[in-house]
Amino acid sequence: MSNNEKIWESVLGELKLLLSEANFNTWFKETKIINIEKDKIIVGVPHTFAQEWIQQKFHKIVLESLKNHYPEVTGVEYQVSTHLREIVAHKIEPELQKNHTHTNPNTKKIEHSSKYETTINPNYTFDNFIVGSFNRLSYAAAKAVVKKPGEAIRNPLYFYGGVGLGKTHLLQAIGNEILKKYPKKRVVYAPCEKFANEYIQAIQKQEMDKLKAYYRNADILLIDDIQFLSGKEGTQEEFFHTFNALHQGNRQIVMTSDSRPDMIPKIAERLSSRFNGGMVADFQSPDFETRQAILKSKCEEKGLIISDELISDIAQAIQSNIRELEGVLNKIIAHCDLYGVEPSAKLISTIIKQSTVKQKNVHINADEILMRVAEHFSVEKNDIKSKKRTKDVSYARQIAMFLLREEIGYSHPKIGEVLGGRDHTTIMHGVNKIKEIKDSDDLIGRDLSLIKEQLYSFN
Ligand code: ADP
Ligand code: MG
Repeated sequence: MSNNEKIWESVLGELKLLLSEANFNTWFKETKIINIEKDKIIVGVPHTFAQEWIQQKFHKIVLESLKNHYPEVTGVEYQVSTHLREIVAHKIEPELQKNHTHTNPNTKKIEHSSKYETTINPNYTFDNFIVGSFNRLSYAAAKAVVKKPGEAIRNPLYFYGGVGLGKTHLLQAIGNEILKKYPKKRVVYAPCEKFANEYIQAIQKQEMDKLKAYYRNADILLIDDIQFLSGKEGTQEEFFHTFNALHQGNRQIVMTSDSRPDMIPKIAERLSSRFNGGMVADFQSPDFETRQAILKSKCEEKGLIISDELISDIAQAIQSNIRELEGVLNKIIAHCDLYGVEPSAKLISTIIKQSTVKQKNVHINADEILMRVAEHFSVEKNDIKSKKRTKDVSYARQIAMFLLREEIGYSHPKIGEVLGGRDHTTIMHGVNKIKEIKDSDDLIGRDLSLIKEQLYSFN
């Protein structure tokens, strides 16, 4: 392997962790370093569409990641390489043929006769989806859709939230469960980029009828990452008509997105208002406890034996993203398999350091929590630490206790120390109080999620 290949392979390894599978496969699978000119790296991509898209959307993370493996780099240029285009063309053809002859036992086919065929991952089920306060609403909505697909109040169902929080998992769980429950129903799942690419191809090849037939005959349409419609007027138009055709026939539509319908940039108002017309449910970041529960369940799934203490270390270090949690577990497993060792605190801390190079900013400390809490409630940070007992300060203080415990796993005595030398029983009382009422009290839930949003988005 040449040096360029080695560098690029490491970069791709990192991008894979940071991006959704669909994004990674669509944009990065067929790329490579063509040349390194002193501090500038030329990356070859298969077509102009990829060139523009990577430049627009992924340039920053590509550059950052390159810096990790080639510190001299200051610039990246993307060049269309005809050689790569040929590779892509070659790969697509055998893929299509293969789909007609073999069945991969790991993927469930949901359409047999069409070239638009997509596979749904059978491992994304409700059974292995951990529910906590951060995703409870979305989970309940998904279950309700399976029970009564197409019901007006939940049609469309629109999930939104940050990267790696389980949107794709839940979307596909709906598909899997519906196929199990109603095997005759036609479930169509597609990442939105796929829909967009197919639309362009259908125009080029004058095959719009086929595309329409495929999507408009769905009983359940599951579209992942709908924000990809942004700025694509033609695709939006086509999706609008698809949406209407299905909706009028009371067929269920479920979409995921990284933002609320009205916050998707460059999208036609008539579309975003349609997306808003059923139920909109969000995914927030999982709290410390749920992160531990998720890790435990994944360890069981993967057969990794690991102590609660180590689980808690991982849950403390990786705070906002479930995909990242899983990535760390996979690395631990790979390392332990390779060297025949047991997971240890040292190994875990090394792996976490490696995989959080670009996430180091997501490391939240006690002072930041206090700062965000103070800001949110418009009180002084020092008041939170003081003996002051006005209603707003006491409430802010309890929220701070809770977040110090849940988000960074501080012990009760340590929280007492941070909060101006309070007794650990006072802290325990405060933490438990918030814990007990946060799920039934909407205002507290809201305060918590707004503060967390600030914590994670500024980091
Ligand atoms: P998103 O689509 O929001 O970016 P994914 O659905 O791809 O996130 O989730 C990332 C990874 O985390 C997947 O491997 C998924 O199985 C796992 N995951 C997400 N949420 C949960 C959950 N609640 N319980 C168990 N695993 C989860
Ligand atoms: Mg996703």
